[in-house]
Amino acid sequence: MKLILLGPPGAGKGTQAKRIERDYGLVQLSTGDMLRAAVAAGTEVGRQAGEVMAAGRLVPDEIVVSIIGERIVLPDCAKGFILDGFPRTVAQAESLDRLLAEKERRIDRVIEIAVDVAALVERISGRFSCTRCGAAYHDRFNRPQVEGVCDVCGGAEFTRRQDDNADTVAARLKAYREETAPLLPYYAARGVLRSVDGMADIDEVTRQLRSAIDGSGDN
Ligand code: AMP
Repeated sequence: MKLILLGPPGAGKGTQAKRIERDYGLVQLSTGDMLRAAVAAGTEVGRQAGEVMAAGRLVPDEIVVSIIGERIVLPDCAKGFILDGFPRTVAQAESLDRLLAEKERRIDRVIEIAVDVAALVERISGRFSCTRCGAAYHDRFNRPQVEGVCDVCGGAEFTRRQDDNADTVAARLKAYREETAPLLPYYAARGVLRSVDGMADIDEVTRQLRSAIDGSGDN
């Protein structure tokens, strides 16, 4: 199963991808996580991407396509993967199609997590994650069961993303509207696009996602 989760920043792609990863044994591939790791490690890619990310703009297609191209051929992706935050432009989607076609593969499902844009700034500005395992939380909507302790791994350190601030969020939403939203008709035309209600509570979104996934064939 090769799955893409589409939706603006704050839609819940990362949170839901982690749940699907766990339930279906697929690997979550988040280009945002990979780029943040490159920035933290001070690699050449990190140096090129850091400033662009801090401004809320999109990193050049060739950088992210090359990261994904190297990643999807690794053995842990053999059973399938969930793309979270990639593709983000039609050019990236076309490159992904070419990469998969080389292996006679294609995307099975693209699921849009549809949200009300007005809710996104609040969602994004309250979020944080476990430094150790990456589990996602939110100040209002999804706090750890025991204050200060990660539900998943018991870690006690949490991180907030640098680009989760009101100024950068506006630029990220603009990038979504102008560059990523055209992917919806791109995948709808192929009959692989489904949509779930991203304004429902987290468990309900997972339930809808599972039924969108279970309704699909594999290749
Ligand atoms: P995310 O964690 O998916 O919200 O991504 C954080 C930031 O990383 C974005 O605002 C972009 O600057 C960059 N980024 C992540 N994925 C991509 C992508 N597929 N194409 C271009 N830029 C990306």
